[in-house]
Amino acid sequence: MSEGMPADTIRCDACPVLCYIKRGQTGACDRYANHDGQLIRVDPHVLLDRAKSQGTPLVPFLERDGEWDGKLMKTKETFLTAIGAGTTYPDYKPAPFIVSSEVEGVDLVTVVTEGIFSYCGVKLKIDTDRHLGPERSFVRAQGETVGHVTTAEYGSQMLSVGGVRHLTGGTKSEGRVTCETLLDLCNGKEVELFIDEGASLRVAAGQPPIVNGQREERMRVGCGSATIGMFAKQWYGKVDDVVVVDDHITGVLSEHQAGKMLGVRETGVFIKGRRSTPGRYFQVANPGTGWGGTDISDPLIILGPFKPKFGWPGLRLLMVSTTGEQFAYYELDEDLRPIERDLPEELKESVARIRENCEPALATVLFMAGAGGSLRAGVTENPVKLTDSVKRSLTRVTCGGAPAYIWPGGGITFMVDVTSMPENAFGYVPTPALVAPIEFTLSKRDYAALGGHMDYIRPLEEVLREKERQREVSFPSENPWPLRPPVPGGTRE
Ligand code: SF4
Repeated sequence: MSEGMPADTIRCDACPVLCYIKRGQTGACDRYANHDGQLIRVDPHVLLDRAKSQGTPLVPFLERDGEWDGKLMKTKETFLTAIGAGTTYPDYKPAPFIVSSEVEGVDLVTVVTEGIFSYCGVKLKIDTDRHLGPERSFVRAQGETVGHVTTAEYGSQMLSVGGVRHLTGGTKSEGRVTCETLLDLCNGKEVELFIDEGASLRVAAGQPPIVNGQREERMRVGCGSATIGMFAKQWYGKVDDVVVVDDHITGVLSEHQAGKMLGVRETGVFIKGRRSTPGRYFQVANPGTGWGGTDISDPLIILGPFKPKFGWPGLRLLMVSTTGEQFAYYELDEDLRPIERDLPEELKESVARIRENCEPALATVLFMAGAGGSLRAGVTENPVKLTDSVKRSLTRVTCGGAPAYIWPGGGITFMVDVTSMPENAFGYVPTPALVAPIEFTLSKRDYAALGGHMDYIRPLEEVLREKERQREVSFPSENPWPLRPPVPGGTRE
């Protein structure tokens, strides 16, 4: 108790906020509470149970690793995650849990801590053909700037949300809303975002995005040119020409190499756009939420008059978008003007095939952060050695047991798919910063060599026996089991 502090109040020292917490109350982040004068971490500490997910019968401790204390102990099947493990502050304090276990004849150490990340954000991939906004436009939540639009990828649009500048470099409100938005995105909740000069979005990790109130069902099969290449054979003989409308590359069957190879006759179709290579056109319209991610609802807008030298009355033309969601069929009249007709039976299958080949559209959230000084000092007295060990794949980094991708170059900058982590793995502190679980697993020998806090190592069994506040969840079988000896020089997953 600090001098001058009421008797029923304790001070939390788990982060720089250093809250005074009265008996029966929680601190500013709701993660710590004063329980009868004791500082406790409110949420349960999450253990991953591989036996549960594999359907392996649970075996008493006695049969596996030693004396059974009444609890089903399964140290080889249990991974102690950092979710609910707590944080240590200031930096030099060892991580809350440093546990040892023996796997495949190798003594391993796992350093387990909830990291407080000021340098963090999410990379948001939104599977959509629709134009969400110009690159570099601001992304807003609750009226605050929380990120920006980055590159358009194949069938998807990338957004960057968060980052230290939004968390700490703007107004207090910008930092608070950015932190809240990141927390919700990382914990799988839906957030509403608005893009300057662009779309409104509702997104949640692993769910179809909702763009301007419309739920995305499918991502496109490819660009317009690729769609021509994929389906040319199915169209050959059933229609005279096909235009696949796409904001990026609009394809034309009769001019495209795929059409040439099949012997498709020239049709004299004229596309109002910038011709790139034969049968491939850029900028046929403005980006938008219409056909193929353009702003058009009537595809004929992108066509000029048919060239009389090549066109003929009765010429059959299919126009279709890259998802097959929009399509229209025309036949030329005596003046070579396209007249809309019902889609013939023999073309219905090819349009349906485009739709069938479009994968479900999802929003994907990758959490990205840098493990800085405090985290690394909690692992070793010589933090640069941890970085070196991670780079050499002697140390495996996981987040709530899920594999983390480590960026090459300096520091420990990692990314993790939040849907591969257990539910509600993230928290926050009002500095503002995000709290995320992180575990470092390496051999005991390597841990000693990098100056680890050897005096703080406890056997995993001992920690598992402390039944308070522990919660077992099934290990997601699609993830690699994290408790295995790292392979030196192996991939930095
Ligand atoms: S914000 Fe949370 S972790 Fe930080 S001091 Fe307060 S209760 Fe403790």
